[in-house]
Amino acid sequence: MTDFEGLVAVVTGGASGIGLATATLLSSRGATAVALDLHPDVPDPLVGIRADVSDDASVQAAVDEVVQRFGRLDVVVNNAGIGAQGDISANSDEEWLKVLNVNVLGITRVSRAALPHLRRSPAAAIVNTGSIAAWAGLPQRALYSATKGAVHALTLAMAADHVREGIRVNAVAPGTADTPWVGRLLDSAPDPAAERAALNARQPHGRLVSADEVAGAIAYLASPLSGSTAGTVLAVDGGMHGL
Ligand code: NAD
Repeated sequence: MTDFEGLVAVVTGGASGIGLATATLLSSRGATAVALDLHPDVPDPLVGIRADVSDDASVQAAVDEVVQRFGRLDVVVNNAGIGAQGDISANSDEEWLKVLNVNVLGITRVSRAALPHLRRSPAAAIVNTGSIAAWAGLPQRALYSATKGAVHALTLAMAADHVREGIRVNAVAPGTADTPWVGRLLDSAPDPAAERAALNARQPHGRLVSADEVAGAIAYLASPLSGSTAGTVLAVDGGMHGL
């Protein structure tokens, strides 16, 4: 693993789950790691800045603050996301637009604000968090899956647009990962322990993906170790997508 000494990284949704694990890993490898989050309480030495990726002014102000405080921006991890349950009839148009606004436009907003700074970095990388939901045809996840399919497609398009200016764009596609998000879903089941055991058993490798494993893939795609990789969506799912 290469190090991120002297680099500045922002991680949206960086105060919980995969985002927190990613910010922690990048920080441990030398980056100044900034969590942009609705609830930006993060442990030292991480930096938390409040930002709502569904609001353009909030995103611009947060990116401006990062560059003002730390002088540069090298790595953007577009990880903030929200879920939705049900088939296509379950959610109103307003709900569709709300989730699209966070999961897809959140990426374009943060990336757009970051681009002028990334163009000045010798180590510029954007990593988006997609999902196995884009590939697996999960039941009762129509809206969420559609947004993550858009994230994967957007990743390829962004890579094509920006690789020639030295900005690599890639994505990870986690399987079911052991984060507070999934913990909340399990806790709402009648028997959370039994539900967790069943969920573990459904994974090809017999357990949930860890947030640290997704963070490792993100850090790889953000680092020069993947210097010739652009427009890739890296599965971190125990092989689930191949089944
Ligand atoms: P999490 O709920 O633990 O963390 C998400 C973080 O995003 C929270 O800190 C939350 O405050 C923040 N956030 C939400 N909306 C925001 C907004 N509008 N602006 C800024 N921050 C916002 O979730 P997680 O499980 O770590 O998921 C992180 C990403 O990974 C999401 O994009 C999710 O879709 C994706 N993912 C998760 C799993 C899984 O099984 N956990 C699987 C595949 C993909």
